Amino acid sequence: MTDLATRAPATPTLDVAAIRADFPILSRQVHGRPLVYLDNAATSQTPRQVIAAFDAYYGGYNANIHRGLHTLADEATAAFEGTRETVRGFLNAAETRELIFTRGTTEAINLVANSWGRANLKAGDEVLISRLEHHSNIVPWQLLAAELGFTIKVIPVDERGVLDLDAYRALFTERTRLVAVNHVSNAFGTINPVKAMATIAHAHGALILVDGAQATPHQAVDVRDIDADFYAFSGHKVYGPTGVGVLYGKADLLEAMPPWQGGGEMIATVSFEAGTTFAELPHKFEAGTPAIAEVIALGEALKWVAGVGLDAIGAWEGRLLAHATERVSTIDGLRILGTAPDKAGVLSFVVDGAHAQDIGLLIDQLGVAIRTGHHCAQPLLAHFGVDATCRASFAAYNTLEEIDVFAEALERVIGMVR
Ligand code: PLP
Repeated sequence: MTDLATRAPATPTLDVAAIRADFPILSRQVHGRPLVYLDNAATSQTPRQVIAAFDAYYGGYNANIHRGLHTLADEATAAFEGTRETVRGFLNAAETRELIFTRGTTEAINLVANSWGRANLKAGDEVLISRLEHHSNIVPWQLLAAELGFTIKVIPVDERGVLDLDAYRALFTERTRLVAVNHVSNAFGTINPVKAMATIAHAHGALILVDGAQATPHQAVDVRDIDADFYAFSGHKVYGPTGVGVLYGKADLLEAMPPWQGGGEMIATVSFEAGTTFAELPHKFEAGTPAIAEVIALGEALKWVAGVGLDAIGAWEGRLLAHATERVSTIDGLRILGTAPDKAGVLSFVVDGAHAQDIGLLIDQLGVAIRTGHHCAQPLLAHFGVDATCRASFAAYNTLEEIDVFAEALERVIGMVR
C-alpha cells in the first residue's frame, strides 16, 4: 500500500497548462470574458477524471452496495470501498475502518458532536473552540451545549489572525474535554499548529477534533503525525464532488461511540423482541444508502491530487498568494485581513468606501469570481470589526496572469464604487 500523502515529487513543480486542460469549466466565458475562478475555498472545480467517474458508474455499474449478490453490486461495492482505501492513504490513517463517509465536513462534525459529545459531555465540562472557526465547527457544539449544559471557551487570535498559543494553554482546566479547531482558516487562510495543539490537548486529557476542510486541498495531511482524534474534510473542496466528505476517528474512540443515525447498513441484527445490534466500523456510522457515485468520484479526485502532488500544489499556491498580496497591497484604502506568516492561498480584504458585496457583484461582470460576505465565520469577522470581506482563494489551476486580471479588475471596480 502506498500512502498518497507521501507521493509528491521531491522538487515541487507544476505544469499549470496541463492541469488546466483537465478542467473543462476553465475554458468557459462569463459575461463575455474568460472565467477567472478565485472562489476555490468555497468549492474547487472538478477535473474530467472526476466527472468521468459519474459517467462510468451510472453508465456501467450503478447498483446499491454491500448487500447485493449480483455483478453490478459487486463492482459498485469494490469501487466504493476502493475509495476508502484511497482516503486511508490520503490521510495516512492506520485502518480503513477509521474512515466514515459523510455528506461533508459539516455532517462529520455533527456526527462527533451527537455521538461522542452526547455520550461524553456533561454540565460543567468545557470545550475549547478557536475564534477562527467556520460556523460548522461552532454551531453543533452550541446546540449540544444548550442541551447538556457544558461550557464553550474561545481560543483567541492576535491582530494577524494567528491563534494565541499561550492563551490556548491557559484555557485548559481539569474539566476540558475537547478542542475543536480548524487546520486552515477559510476566512483568513491561517494555518494552525494542530500538531502542537494536539500535544497540549492530550497532555490535559482532552481530545482534539481537527476541521481539515481547507487543509486537505493544499497540503499533505497525516492524521497519525498530528495525532488527531478526529479529522474531517469535504470532497468538493479537494477537486471532488459535493455531497461527500470524510470523518476520520481513532478506532478505539469510534468503537466506543454509540451510533448517531439509525437505519439500513449500520445494523447487524434487528428484532422487535431482542432489539438491534450494530454493524462493525465503519458501517456503524453509515446509515442508509450512501452517495455511492460521489464516494467513487472522490477517490478519483484524491488520485488526481496525488498525481499532481500536494507539495507542488501548496508551493504553487504560495506563489499565487505572494503575487496577489503584492498586487493588491498598492491599492489605496485596501486592508488585508489575516496576515499570518503561515498562510494558505486565501486573500481576504476590505476596501475603504467600497462594500464587499458591491465589489463582488461588479468584479463578476469582468469575469472574475471571488467570494464576499462573512464566509460562515461571523465571530471572527465581528472580532475584526467588519461584517464582510472580499476573499480571493487559489487552486492548482490558477495562474499568475489570472492574478493580474483580478488585480486590474479590482482596481477598476473600486474606482467605480467610490
Ligand atoms: N470548515 C471549513 C473551514 C470550511 O471552509 C467549510 C466550508 O466552507 C466547512 C467547514 C463546511 O464544509 P461543508 O459545507 O462542505 O460541510
